[in-house]
Amino acid sequence: MIYYVLQGHELQNDVQTMIQVFLANRHYTRVEEVTGEITVVSCMEKGIASAMLYRRREKVAEWSMPYAEETLTEKEQKRIIKRTIYELLKAETGIRPQWGLLTGVRPAKLVRILLEEGKDDAECMAFLTEDYLVMEHKAALALKVAKAEQKILQGNKPEEISLYIGIPFCPTRCLYCSFTAYPLHQYQNRVDEYLDAMFKELDWLASYSRRFTMKNIYIGGGTPTSLNEAQLERLLKKVEELFHPDDSMEYTVEAGRPDTITREKLCLMKAYGVNRISINPQTMNDKTLQAVGRKHTVEDIRRVFREAREEGHENINMDLILGLPGEDAADVRNTMAEIMKLEPDNVTVHTLAVKRASRLREELDRHDMTTAETLEQMLDISAEYAEKMGMEPYYMYRQKNMVGNFENVGYCHPGKEGVYNVQIMEEKQTILAAGAGASTKTVDPETDRIERVFNVKSIEDYIGRIDEMIERKRTGLPQGGRI
Ligand code: SF4
Repeated sequence: MIYYVLQGHELQNDVQTMIQVFLANRHYTRVEEVTGEITVVSCMEKGIASAMLYRRREKVAEWSMPYAEETLTEKEQKRIIKRTIYELLKAETGIRPQWGLLTGVRPAKLVRILLEEGKDDAECMAFLTEDYLVMEHKAALALKVAKAEQKILQGNKPEEISLYIGIPFCPTRCLYCSFTAYPLHQYQNRVDEYLDAMFKELDWLASYSRRFTMKNIYIGGGTPTSLNEAQLERLLKKVEELFHPDDSMEYTVEAGRPDTITREKLCLMKAYGVNRISINPQTMNDKTLQAVGRKHTVEDIRRVFREAREEGHENINMDLILGLPGEDAADVRNTMAEIMKLEPDNVTVHTLAVKRASRLREELDRHDMTTAETLEQMLDISAEYAEKMGMEPYYMYRQKNMVGNFENVGYCHPGKEGVYNVQIMEEKQTILAAGAGASTKTVDPETDRIERVFNVKSIEDYIGRIDEMIERKRTGLPQGGRI
């Protein structure tokens, strides 16, 4: 357990996230006074900001800096607080975090805003490396991604929107999963009922969206291909009737786990106009697949990928996770070499995040977690292979509790960008959402003001309260949801 104390300010989130960068995967608690094995005290008073480290209630280190009280902005206050903790823990742990003081979810967004303000490359780089202590190569990555995202977002029109459809079932629950995902064997007999309820919501959303232009449809989960062939066809048919997908749209199905994908499902997706799919291995090492609770083999991944190509899928993404328990840099090299042989169009490289809702979080003590140093090597290996495959980074985000505070990066061949990914990450487009646990997000194109309307998470509640879910949108969406 890591304890922390705040004095003279209330920036709890900034303090905790900065501590987490150095002392990852622990439990963190705010307390009123120094206690326990380790306590970090963050103080901002009378023109001096300081961070102190206590071991067994003995002060062992301190780092301070002055600040100008009269001109202090909120942004600057946050930066200074983080800086003190950064310097204190850097000296104590010997770790130099690659993203410096940036603990937020979207480092590229920050750079994109600077670019929009007219800053040039050198000014963006200086802001990142000098003010926020980001390492040169990460700053360069953020700049590259910001420019790729800018290119996509510049094409946005105010009347364009996206649609998300959530299928929250999975064959088994992965060790690290924190999503709304229910084991199929328990819910098998409710899937059709779930679809019936969701179709009602989709009917309403289709009417609501008539005044807009639908640009992206994304069926995600869970694992959408957990649906059997007949159920998947019902869903694809419904989407076709309501939203008329054509080649001007990006239409993605996150097929996900190879153990749920059949040739018939691949064929159905193609026939109903799906033009982007994901086949997500996470790793190409059998021992890890077993250890994280995925009931398929590397050979299954290869077979499904081949079948997808044979059925005419020309835009295939593959998701990977670095830092899975028990893996080292050699395992990641093997994964990347195997992926390269398959020649996917997109590769999305995630760094393991230990989420509160995951089994991994509960079992943390039982697993060998990857060190920040190894993870750094793994990221370098993935970037090296992406380059070898002729791919460029085009989107990036970070999650809280990521091992070593690293990043998730989407790489692709030019022209194969997953546009929906960028839209959801950069929050520049309205995304209507249907399904249990899905949240609709509206973005006012003029003010960038964001409103959210949430659906309940449990399958039972979603089915039983579907009219209420629709009513929430009718009242919560702009213009009262009048159609
Ligand atoms: S496939 Fe994805 S959604 Fe399903 S259990 Fe695994 S991590 Fe969760």
